[in-house]
Amino acid sequence: MREKNIPPLLAQEEVSKILNISSQKLEEAYWKGIIKNYQKHNLEAIQFRKGLGSMESGTMVVNGETIQVIRGFPKIRRTLMLKPTLKKHFLKEVAVEEKMNGYNVRITQIDNDIIAFTRGGYICPYTTRKAKEILDLDDFFQENPEMVICGEMVGTLNPYVSHYYREVGKLGFRIFDLREKQTNTPLPMKEKRDLLEEHDLEPVRLLGIFPVDEAPEKIIEIVKDLGANNREGVVMKDPMMQLEPLKYTSSQAQASELEYALSYPFDLAQAFLFSRIIREGFQAYEMAESTDELSKRALRMGESILYPMLETIRGVENGELAAEDLVIEVKNQNEAEEFIRHLRDLKVMATLVEIKDGKAVIRRIHQSTNDKVKNYLHGGLY
Ligand code: ATP
Ligand code: MG
Repeated sequence: MREKNIPPLLAQEEVSKILNISSQKLEEAYWKGIIKNYQKHNLEAIQFRKGLGSMESGTMVVNGETIQVIRGFPKIRRTLMLKPTLKKHFLKEVAVEEKMNGYNVRITQIDNDIIAFTRGGYICPYTTRKAKEILDLDDFFQENPEMVICGEMVGTLNPYVSHYYREVGKLGFRIFDLREKQTNTPLPMKEKRDLLEEHDLEPVRLLGIFPVDEAPEKIIEIVKDLGANNREGVVMKDPMMQLEPLKYTSSQAQASELEYALSYPFDLAQAFLFSRIIREGFQAYEMAESTDELSKRALRMGESILYPMLETIRGVENGELAAEDLVIEVKNQNEAEEFIRHLRDLKVMATLVEIKDGKAVIRRIHQSTNDKVKNYLHGGLY
């Protein structure tokens, strides 16, 4: 009698109706692990670990006073070549927003409580706490209870993607989309920015709205400039938000991702390496650089691959652990431990190093890199 084990929420007729997915399909997906029961922080929900039907991965079905669907944030595809792709993809105009380098957060109100979901539909205790600290959202949700605020948590006191922005410093939140809960429909660019301004909420930077045929040239200049300032890149959007957005990133962003991945070669490099190299190949081609610029790019790429790996090998040889330290702000030991438990739920191996001056240092260990590098240093065969 397997049926007995289906979570009660999933068994409700209403859920199948709202999602437009048959009960049988939902049940199958449950047994396959595509959707999971999620019961944390006083919330009873179904979490979509992968996409199903028209539901994106990261979608959450929450059993509140009513059943609510918080849709996953849609994947943004990438252009390798701006000129042909923009022409093919957009109609008249392209709005260019800065792409901020942090982690994706959806904030919404459920039964008068403000909740922050990370990409996969997890409730991160640190993110939820900080979102409430940083943002004053009561009025916004009072007036727009059916809205989901989609934005990037950025800054250095950031446990997932730590990146320094002069205008942000330790931790900040920049909003890029306002979407409707159930349907995931985004507000058009102008409505979004007006509504955010009205509520004193900070959007990502809008770098320009260009006619399609002028856009590639402008974007190349913008992205070069962003890169030179150690910033990630752009997301290009239809001003009416009726077409899928596209993303494009700077050579420096590629390099810093390579640098990170190659610091832990046997944990991260394989998933990172190929796609970053391909991006550089097409960008170098399209930007038709001078010999001097091209050799700078080649050097940047090569250095970001070789040096971090070398440093890790040397470190392991000297008895150091291949690990990265995450720093978060905490008021007490309990908050630090709660966050570590959350990481363990995500299958991330982490330990608390210390708490000092309101900051917890959490060590994330990259075990395969440790083990393999040690093995090769002791003569193991590759
Ligand atoms: P995914 O596309 O699945 O999120 P990814 O790690 O490849 O995974 P990125 O390459 O960082 O994601 O690009 C997409 C992400 O960029 C969005 O999910 C969002 O968090 C972030 N982002 C930053 N700035 C913007 C912006 N202005 N508009 C839309 N998304 C933005
Ligand atoms: Mg990102």
